[in-house]
Amino acid sequence: MRINEIRVKDVHKIVEVIGKIYFVGEVEHIKLGGKWECQSCGTTIHKSHHLEDKKMYSPERCSCGNNRKFDLISDDKADIRKIKLKEFEKVLGMSIPLDIWISEDLIEKETKIIKKGKKVKVRGMIILSKRGENCYALIAEDISGI
Ligand SMILES: [Zn+2]
Repeated sequence: MRINEIRVKDVHKIVEVIGKIYFVGEVEHIKLGGKWECQSCGTTIHKSHHLEDKKMYSPERCSCGNNRKFDLISDDKADIRKIKLKEFEKVLGMSIPLDIWISEDLIEKETKIIKKGKKVKVRGMIILSKRGENCYALIAEDISGI
Protein backbone atom coordinates (compact mmCIF):
# COMPACT_ATOMS: atom_id res chain seq x y z
CA MET A 1 0.00 0.00 0.00
CA ARG A 2 1.00 3.61 -0.37
CA ILE A 3 1.88 5.79 2.60
CA ASN A 4 -0.98 8.12 1.74
CA GLU A 5 -3.49 5.28 1.92
CA ILE A 6 -2.87 4.47 5.59
CA ARG A 7 -5.93 5.16 7.72
CA VAL A 8 -6.98 4.73 11.33
CA LYS A 9 -8.64 1.40 10.45
CA ASP A 10 -5.19 0.02 9.56
CA VAL A 11 -3.77 0.59 13.05
CA HIS A 12 -2.46 -2.66 14.58
CA LYS A 13 -2.72 -4.45 11.23
CA ILE A 14 0.20 -5.99 9.38
CA VAL A 15 0.62 -4.25 6.04
CA GLU A 16 3.14 -3.76 3.26
CA VAL A 17 4.08 -0.20 2.50
CA ILE A 18 6.18 1.08 -0.37
CA GLY A 19 8.20 4.28 -0.37
CA LYS A 20 11.59 5.88 -0.56
CA ILE A 21 13.97 6.15 2.39
CA TYR A 22 15.06 9.69 3.07
CA PHE A 23 16.33 9.45 6.62
CA VAL A 24 18.11 6.78 8.65
CA GLY A 25 18.42 7.56 12.36
CA GLU A 26 20.86 6.55 15.05
CA VAL A 27 20.49 3.44 17.20
CA GLU A 28 18.23 4.01 20.16
CA HIS A 29 17.71 1.78 23.16
CA ILE A 30 13.97 1.57 23.31
CA LYS A 31 11.76 0.13 26.01
CA LEU A 32 9.02 -2.03 24.54
CA GLY A 33 7.17 -2.82 27.72
CA GLY A 34 7.50 -3.82 31.30
CA LYS A 35 6.36 -6.23 33.98
CA TRP A 36 4.83 -4.57 36.97
CA GLU A 37 3.87 -6.02 40.33
CA CYS A 38 0.80 -4.86 42.16
CA GLN A 39 1.82 -3.77 45.68
CA SER A 40 -1.55 -4.79 47.11
CA CYS A 41 -2.00 -8.35 45.85
CA GLY A 42 1.27 -9.27 44.13
CA THR A 43 -0.22 -9.88 40.68
CA THR A 44 2.19 -9.40 37.79
CA ILE A 45 0.91 -7.22 34.97
CA HIS A 46 2.58 -6.79 31.61
CA LYS A 47 2.15 -3.43 29.98
CA SER A 48 3.45 -2.53 26.59
CA HIS A 49 5.10 0.79 26.03
CA HIS A 50 4.65 3.20 23.16
CA LEU A 51 7.90 3.45 21.18
CA GLU A 52 7.77 7.22 21.17
CA ASP A 53 7.23 7.65 24.91
CA LYS A 54 10.32 8.59 26.86
CA LYS A 55 8.79 7.50 30.14
CA MET A 56 7.17 4.18 31.05
CA TYR A 57 3.82 4.41 32.71
CA SER A 58 2.59 1.95 35.33
CA PRO A 59 -0.63 -0.01 34.69
CA GLU A 60 -3.80 1.97 35.27
CA ARG A 61 -5.48 -0.60 37.46
CA CYS A 62 -5.09 -4.10 38.86
CA SER A 63 -8.00 -6.53 39.04
CA CYS A 64 -7.88 -6.20 42.86
CA GLY A 65 -8.81 -2.53 42.55
CA ASN A 66 -5.40 -1.02 43.21
CA ASN A 67 -4.81 1.79 40.80
CA ARG A 68 -1.80 3.56 42.26
CA LYS A 69 0.95 1.36 43.63
CA PHE A 70 2.98 -0.78 41.25
CA ASP A 71 6.63 -1.82 41.23
CA LEU A 72 8.50 -2.25 37.99
CA ILE A 73 10.08 -5.74 37.98
CA SER A 74 11.61 -5.90 34.52
CA ASP A 75 11.48 -4.20 31.17
CA ASP A 76 11.93 -5.38 27.59
CA LYS A 77 14.48 -3.38 25.66
CA ALA A 78 15.49 -3.38 22.03
CA ASP A 79 18.08 -1.68 19.86
CA ILE A 80 16.09 0.05 17.22
CA ARG A 81 16.44 2.80 14.62
CA LYS A 82 13.94 5.08 13.09
CA ILE A 83 13.96 5.49 9.35
CA LYS A 84 11.63 7.79 7.46
CA LEU A 85 9.85 6.85 4.30
CA LYS A 86 8.12 9.11 1.82
CA GLU A 87 6.19 8.62 -1.37
CA PHE A 88 8.44 8.16 -4.36
CA GLU A 89 5.85 9.22 -6.88
CA LYS A 90 4.09 12.54 -6.91
CA VAL A 91 0.78 12.32 -5.12
CA LEU A 92 -2.22 14.55 -4.91
CA GLY A 93 -2.66 16.34 -1.63
CA MET A 94 -0.42 16.37 1.36
CA SER A 95 2.09 13.61 1.87
CA ILE A 96 3.10 12.95 5.48
CA PRO A 97 6.28 10.88 5.84
CA LEU A 98 6.00 7.58 7.63
CA ASP A 99 8.26 6.71 10.56
CA ILE A 100 9.48 3.15 10.41
CA TRP A 101 10.87 1.56 13.55
CA ILE A 102 13.34 -1.07 12.58
CA SER A 103 15.41 -3.42 14.72
CA GLU A 104 19.17 -3.20 14.65
CA ASP A 105 19.34 -6.90 13.60
CA LEU A 106 17.32 -6.18 10.50
CA ILE A 107 19.40 -3.09 9.70
CA GLU A 108 22.59 -5.16 9.88
CA LYS A 109 21.11 -7.87 7.68
CA GLU A 110 19.90 -5.45 5.02
CA THR A 111 22.65 -2.81 4.98
CA LYS A 112 22.54 -2.58 1.19
CA ILE A 113 18.84 -1.83 1.17
CA ILE A 114 18.53 0.46 4.18
CA LYS A 115 20.12 3.58 2.74
CA LYS A 116 18.97 7.06 1.96
CA GLY A 117 17.38 7.21 -1.49
CA LYS A 118 16.48 3.51 -1.76
CA LYS A 119 13.02 2.44 -2.81
CA VAL A 120 11.74 -0.19 -0.46
CA LYS A 121 8.83 -2.36 0.52
CA VAL A 122 8.38 -2.71 4.27
CA ARG A 123 6.13 -5.19 6.03
CA GLY A 124 5.08 -4.49 9.56
CA MET A 125 2.47 -3.30 11.99
CA ILE A 126 0.93 0.15 11.78
CA ILE A 127 0.73 2.08 15.02
CA LEU A 128 -0.54 5.56 15.81
CA SER A 129 2.26 8.05 16.09
CA LYS A 130 2.25 10.66 18.80
CA ARG A 131 3.64 13.25 16.40
CA GLY A 132 0.18 14.52 15.62
CA GLU A 133 -3.18 13.83 14.12
CA ASN A 134 -3.21 11.49 11.11
CA CYS A 135 0.40 10.51 11.80
CA TYR A 136 1.31 6.88 11.71
CA ALA A 137 4.38 4.78 12.31
CA LEU A 138 5.21 1.23 11.38
CA ILE A 139 7.10 -1.42 13.33
CA ALA A 140 9.05 -3.26 10.66
CA GLU A 141 9.22 -7.03 10.43
CA ASP A 142 10.80 -7.22 7.02
CA ILE A 143 12.24 -4.89 4.40
CA SER A 144 13.20 -5.47 0.79
CA GLY A 145 14.31 -3.39 -2.16
CA ILE A 146 12.01 -2.75 -5.08
ZN1 LIG B 1 -3.62 -6.16 42.69
